[in-house]
Amino acid sequence: MRSRPELPRTVGTPVTAVVVGGGIAGVTAALLLAERGVHVTLLERAAQLGGRLSAWPSTLPDGTRHMVEHGFHGFFRQYYNWRNVLRRIDPTLSFLQPAGRYPIISQEWPEESFAGLPKTPPANLLALLARSPSMRLRELRGLDGTAALPLLNYDREETYRRFDDVSAKDFLDALGMPPRARAMLFDVFAHSFFNHQEDMSAAEMLMQFHFYFLRNPEGLDFDAPNQDYETAIWTPLARQFEALGGEIRTGTTAESVEPGWTVTLGDGSRLSADHVVLAADPGAARTIAAASPGLERHAPELAAQLAAVETTAPYAVSRLWTDRDCRPERAVFSSVSREATLDSVTLYHRIERAAGQWARRIGGSVIELHAYAAPTGLEAAELTKRMWTELGGLWPETVDMTILHVEERVGHDAPAFNVGSDAGRPGVVTDADGLYLAGDWVRMPFPSALMERAAGSAILAVNAIIERYGVGPNQVWSVAPRGLLARDR
Ligand SMILES: Cc1cc2nc3c(=O)[nH]c(=O)nc-3n(C[C@H](O)[C@H](O)[C@H](O)COP(=O)(O)OP(=O)(O)OC[C@H]3O[C@@H](n4cnc5c(N)ncnc54)[C@H](O)[C@@H]3O)c2cc1C
Repeated sequence: MRSRPELPRTVGTPVTAVVVGGGIAGVTAALLLAERGVHVTLLERAAQLGGRLSAWPSTLPDGTRHMVEHGFHGFFRQYYNWRNVLRRIDPTLSFLQPAGRYPIISQEWPEESFAGLPKTPPANLLALLARSPSMRLRELRGLDGTAALPLLNYDREETYRRFDDVSAKDFLDALGMPPRARAMLFDVFAHSFFNHQEDMSAAEMLMQFHFYFLRNPEGLDFDAPNQDYETAIWTPLARQFEALGGEIRTGTTAESVEPGWTVTLGDGSRLSADHVVLAADPGAARTIAAASPGLERHAPELAAQLAAVETTAPYAVSRLWTDRDCRPERAVFSSVSREATLDSVTLYHRIERAAGQWARRIGGSVIELHAYAAPTGLEAAELTKRMWTELGGLWPETVDMTILHVEERVGHDAPAFNVGSDAGRPGVVTDADGLYLAGDWVRMPFPSALMERAAGSAILAVNAIIERYGVGPNQVWSVAPRGLLARDR
């Protein structure tokens, strides 16, 4: 969607909106609406903004106060919409720094890397396959080229029509890849989306391959903030929003919404507005809809769609402060292949300023371990123990480290992209006139994922609202929407 400079930039009459949820989607929607003259109240259940990208203070046993993130995030270069939001607080994005090479490590095979590949398809795919020790020429010949074609001819309509009812696992099985290539190149990639291959829609996985790897000129390189996320992102975005007259209410839960529109809060009070943007995580959006009987009467399709929205497997994040450093050649971020629990390792002290200062002072390290689709029913402490043991098998220098402090949590709020879920997935604009959805779980018309999906859907919601007042839309960006070999339609 292009901007229309010939149209007014702001609404000419008083317009009000309530945004529910203060993560990337909610704050993007709130800020961009406020820029257009809409009076916005932003509601966030937690004590701080940020949702799955938030940060909060924690005190170490040695008395040092650290900000702890909800989890390390890679800011990919093709996150055009999210980066444009961030440019509002830092025009040169100086707080983002390259995370460096991006290895995949495993106990079975030597390290491989996604970084430094050609940027354009199909050269990137061919270079990956040819360069990777996972794919010998002999094995390449064994690949089923016809089965692999959907990787190169992604098309929003056709890909979802053919592959939404197929599991990512069945799709990958049909490619006939040798086990090493499957584990090192494809399984790692598929797992990073928080869903188990057996449950995940192959169409959704193909879209993500297209978005992250096959059809963006930036390649798989990413950046990461060199400061904690509260300092770098949330405080400046909140200040900017408030300077535009926006109101932020943290520690405030929206319980239900009634057409018209009225939002009932946890303390029983009510807020009325012309528009509501529901930017809560998928489980919370489902809960709010279930508590809103008026919604079902007013918009039965949306109510049914929200009732069917699902969250996926739990994820675990454990940050450990240790007394010694890892070997110097270890990368800032490594993906892990073929471990039961551990999916990635981040060396925070090698990218974030405060963690780096602490680590240099005591000669230690700040290591974060992630499990993206963890076994269900396990406590955070047990998952930390398992991931730490698995890391010891990969990086022997960690075995004798003393752990000085741990921050650990298990999350249950990541969206499921189950087989067959696309057709019933609600989009940004709903059959409830005046209610819009935003978040990384919402159906999108162009390829995007995770943080970029959250920001992109929020911009679409803002555009849908301001369009009603004849105001020019925000420009929306996308990687090439179709695969290189997609047939012309
Ligand atoms: C460990 C981890 C690592 C990740 N790594 C990456 C990465 O490297 N790259 C990437 O792109 N993405 C990554 N992600 C995904 C990314 O964090 C999400 O895609 C993104 O933050 C989603 O933003 P959102 O605004 O859609 O949802 P959320 O961040 O979940 O925001 C929803 C907000 O709504 C609030 N809320 C819920 N219910 C209510 C209510 N009733 N009333 C008021 N408020 C409510 C919640 O408290 C929350 O703040 C990662 C996620 C995790 C957990």
